[in-house]
Amino acid sequence: MPRDPRHDILFEPIRIGPVVAKNRFFQVPHCNGMGHTKPRGHAAMRGVKAEGGWAVVSTEEVEIHASSDVSPHVEGRLWDDGDVAALRLVSDAVHEHGALAAIELAHNGMHSSNLYSREVAIAPSPICVLGSYTPAQARGMTKADIRAYRRWHRDAALRSRRAGFDIVYVYAAHELSLAMHFLQARHNQRTDEYGGSLVNRVRLLRELLEETKEAIGGDCAVAVRFAVDELRGQDGIESGGEGREVVAMLADLPDLWDVNLSDWTNDSATSRFAPEGYQEEFVRFVKGVTRKPVVGVGRFTSPDAMVSQIRRGVLDLIGAARPSIADPFLPHKIDSGEIDDIRECIGCNICVSGDLTSTPIRCTQNPTMGEEWRKGWHPEKIPPRSGEDSFLVIGAGPTGLECARLLGRRGYPVTLAEAEAQLGGRVTRESSLPGLSAWARVRDYRLQQLNKMPNVEILRTSRVAAAQILEFGATRVVLATGARWRRDGIARANLRPIAGFDRAGVLTPDELMAGMRAPSPVVVFDDDHFYLGAVIAEKLRREGLDVVLVTPAERVSAWTVHTLEQRRIQQQLLELGVRIETNRNIVEFDGSRVRLECTYTGRESSLAAAAVVAVTSRQSDDALGLELGSQPEALAAAGIASVACIGDCLAPSTIAAAVYAGHRYAREFDWPQSDAVPFRRELARTTD
Ligand code: ADP
Ligand code: SF4
Repeated sequence: MPRDPRHDILFEPIRIGPVVAKNRFFQVPHCNGMGHTKPRGHAAMRGVKAEGGWAVVSTEEVEIHASSDVSPHVEGRLWDDGDVAALRLVSDAVHEHGALAAIELAHNGMHSSNLYSREVAIAPSPICVLGSYTPAQARGMTKADIRAYRRWHRDAALRSRRAGFDIVYVYAAHELSLAMHFLQARHNQRTDEYGGSLVNRVRLLRELLEETKEAIGGDCAVAVRFAVDELRGQDGIESGGEGREVVAMLADLPDLWDVNLSDWTNDSATSRFAPEGYQEEFVRFVKGVTRKPVVGVGRFTSPDAMVSQIRRGVLDLIGAARPSIADPFLPHKIDSGEIDDIRECIGCNICVSGDLTSTPIRCTQNPTMGEEWRKGWHPEKIPPRSGEDSFLVIGAGPTGLECARLLGRRGYPVTLAEAEAQLGGRVTRESSLPGLSAWARVRDYRLQQLNKMPNVEILRTSRVAAAQILEFGATRVVLATGARWRRDGIARANLRPIAGFDRAGVLTPDELMAGMRAPSPVVVFDDDHFYLGAVIAEKLRREGLDVVLVTPAERVSAWTVHTLEQRRIQQQLLELGVRIETNRNIVEFDGSRVRLECTYTGRESSLAAAAVVAVTSRQSDDALGLELGSQPEALAAAGIASVACIGDCLAPSTIAAAVYAGHRYAREFDWPQSDAVPFRRELARTTD
């Protein structure tokens, strides 16, 4: 299809110092959990982005020195010449598709625990090592340390050029880099020419920019990544105050301004807390203060919103991390007028959880993310069918939808049968809850694709029984029948049913999502620890009920530290007036009160409760699988070669895991059974 002429402006080239970006799509730096430990995986992932049409593809932050060791997090590394070859893989993969390669040089200062290098952390002034409870402190830098740091940075810039990069970043954002720590008055208590006035605090950033330009500026563009606002009022940098002044002071020194919010929780706010384009009010001043191109982010997935950013003079380049993860081919799809095919990011931050758990990146919407090298998966190129199989997929939740989509794309005949009138399973149910409407994109993208496939038939309100499966005539049956929330309280803290949870006043999230009302006061018991418990508490509180959230964990929605949401979630509940009881297990419900036990001391207390919502664990809906599994002769007689139970009906997990399971089945269903590791690994070198 031809490109919509309204989007032409997104494809105008733009000069960035000595290099030219072929369009306005800029994949800004983002972590990926592969970095220096899995360089081939990392390079292949960036290569796919370049192939998808991004004019610039950046690395994540790249440590420039052993005193900036952020282990156990896995970032890029450029400590010495030994790291150049691994980064060369990245720039080569990006160049192969005609994009510019950018590298973000970083020294994390007091955000480096140095657990691997055992170097002493450095900072503008003595301070605790931040970002964790590491029992160590950073020392204040001497003038000699500052000179050494500038030298390391210059050396890293020279190595970056040698590694093939076209754009080299000086990094002063996210509260994660020394250049930013020097800017922040609360972290910089120096009394020399690097501390005190803003002119002094900006000195180091200016020197880094000047020295980087002097070292490599003839060949490479020098970008600055700067957080114009920290969203902490006068205690931090504010876009109406020092943020603006810093941009004004350095105005045309860098070749490119990449501007955003700090810290990372603000920059990568989830859809639950921030809409598309949420950074505009903070960054829109920048273009009025510099003549250099400006890139910014805001979880942009709509081409119209992108065009508007450029036309209204807010940004010159559309920066994206998450939208490029969910759909590496986003620019290509806009270019070829395939807007409906864009796989829009849902803003869930599962991608971030890879970095924060030191494992390769994954994405709810894009199951191929992180699998480009180790499994050879490509987000758009799918192997065609390899045989005469036909498929009956039962259940149209995220697992079934993705499975049917990919089998359909491969060219197989597929019937997708769903018991409910509505498709989408858990994503449809959950997207009706406060803040989770974007979850519906998981369903909508797949339905949009399925509706275009003549070889896929979708049957709604079709609850399928074993007898019908045997009669249906498909050669392969995929059970994607999902899971339901348990009512008995069994999860982590309670391995046996909780006394009294068989009473009428105990509700499940499924019942609430189906419209059942809870009486007040209500206790939400969260032994699941991801987002749902707090979302249910929020929903009930907004309906006017007295709500107490009880959790055996030490904080609400404990796992959401990995999606950068935990603080916001707990803060929101407190502000809404939800009472929070942490480190408490529920041991009994008598119909009007719950009996609690402290998880440390066992000391008992109790709370009034007309109802309890058990957000505990889920039970797989595996009845069909068990029934069919007990009839091997009948399956053989029906010509059914395999029955697979996948996604939540095998073992409940995240939506991302459900999509991955559906995708994986469609690619690998005919693989021979094997004990082999199911992907390529990057083994540690055992020779020098
Ligand atoms: P997953 O996350 O694995 O996709 P979900 O619970 O979201 O699981 O979706 C499972 C879907 O399967 C639900 O929409 C449910 O209605 C449907 N389903 C369950 N049993 C049957 C059945 N026997 N026939 C057809 N659909 C079914
Ligand atoms: Fe977007 Fe979620 Fe994918 Fe991250 S994991 S890119 S937030 S859909």
